[in-house]
Amino acid sequence: MRLLIAMMKHETNTFSPVPTPLARFGHAPGPLYGEAAIKAYRGTGSGLGAYIELAEREGAEIVLPIAAGAPPSRPVDNDAYEHIAGNICDAVKQGRFDGIMLDLHGAMVTETYEDGEGELLRRIRAIDPKTPVCVALDMHTNLYDAMVDNATVLAGYRTYPHLDTYDTARRAGEILLKTMRGAAKPVMAWGNVPMLPHVMRQGSDDFPNKELQARCAAMSAEGALSATLFVGFPHADIHNAGLSVVVVTDGDKALAEKLRDELLERAWADREAFVYKLEPLEASLARAKALEPPQPGEGPIVLLDHYDNCASGGTMDTTAVLAAMIRDGLENAAAFAIFDPEAVQQAVAAGIGAEVTLSIGGKLAMPQIPGESPALTVTGTVKTISNGRFRNKGPASRGVQMDMGPSVVIDTGKIEIAVISRHVEPNDLNCFYTLGIDPMQKRYLMLKSRIHWRAGLGSLAKAVVECAGHGVCTSDYSQLTFNNVRRPIYPLDLPNR
Ligand SMILES: [Zn+2]
Repeated sequence: MRLLIAMMKHETNTFSPVPTPLARFGHAPGPLYGEAAIKAYRGTGSGLGAYIELAEREGAEIVLPIAAGAPPSRPVDNDAYEHIAGNICDAVKQGRFDGIMLDLHGAMVTETYEDGEGELLRRIRAIDPKTPVCVALDMHTNLYDAMVDNATVLAGYRTYPHLDTYDTARRAGEILLKTMRGAAKPVMAWGNVPMLPHVMRQGSDDFPNKELQARCAAMSAEGALSATLFVGFPHADIHNAGLSVVVVTDGDKALAEKLRDELLERAWADREAFVYKLEPLEASLARAKALEPPQPGEGPIVLLDHYDNCASGGTMDTTAVLAAMIRDGLENAAAFAIFDPEAVQQAVAAGIGAEVTLSIGGKLAMPQIPGESPALTVTGTVKTISNGRFRNKGPASRGVQMDMGPSVVIDTGKIEIAVISRHVEPNDLNCFYTLGIDPMQKRYLMLKSRIHWRAGLGSLAKAVVECAGHGVCTSDYSQLTFNNVRRPIYPLDLPNR
């Protein structure tokens, strides 16, 4: 048995100014190839980890041309896309594959294509119209015809935070192996409804996504090989942004369509619960200050700077929430993180223990978002200098190597501020421990995140206060100008019927 396995992952925030060259994909200076990719992902809780495990269980020959995943940012540079898609297509041209297993995101926009995954699959099918292809997708997929038409099996995550990247690829891969053995004939039905669920309301621990995902899982007992409800990624001004469903059955198209329709109808009926209600920053901080401090053994009060999540394309360098924390005199706090490679270098040059005054953040312009993004001047001691590398403790992406680049902690006496050089969302305890910060000892913990922080820290938090800051992941969708998304779409246009 010969299997082609590859990864191409990017969630594109079309409002983001953060560039997406090839170097953003994977470990600097670019993606991993062949044996190096297999070695890096084997045994990890990732989609590729699952595919590699399945392939090795089957004793298959593995061809892994490229593993390329970048944190979310603006549309992918054309030459980066052509490099990644080109590597995969060159491998497909070698031929003699029994199956193709792809780990894709499903919301990749490039400078040229608004459906990067559909374009890749179309190219693969043009070279090889027959070999079965399975694709594991993120829950934030914005789904298009071309993805469904040019794949055998599509399966998406059922958790947000994404704790089932491994399980999803395993599910997709097992269906593919069954298909290769002639034991299944997958057919798919997909569809969407005109709604943009708000990211802050998409968590799979909360109504309504919890119930919708549970229904997807239950459909396996009713003849679905896989049923997926994608909440979609709304910070993408593309035609098919929003909620969609794909159901795979064994040869029963009518059943796939029936289950699909049920999921779409339920999601549409729940649309109001997917709308987020905003609170002014001052009110949020006043609420946080009024909360009892954590008792020994209790975790911190989390202040969520959800407008500037780098794992949704945020610059991670806006300072509105941090500035308000300082202004309000919050103590025994930590903040993760401000992206500012220049400030890091200044702190590194000063050395551990030195007192520094630095201008941090506010360096990346955000032309598509109204308002200014000022820098913040902070004075403090350089507490930590680190190369910023760690492996995730889990449960999300357990064992996967992370790289914050050169990183420092500036201790103002009241707040320990992490300043980093590469975009990493705080969703794992090890990003703190690597920098010598113990979140459990803090009264307040500011996180630039929306939902994913819950993966490693959710169960530890004493309380959560969502803080409206500034940034391209704005939770105020009236700040976003949509020109390309299909209209009308709820809640941008439609009355609340
Ligand atoms: Zn996602």
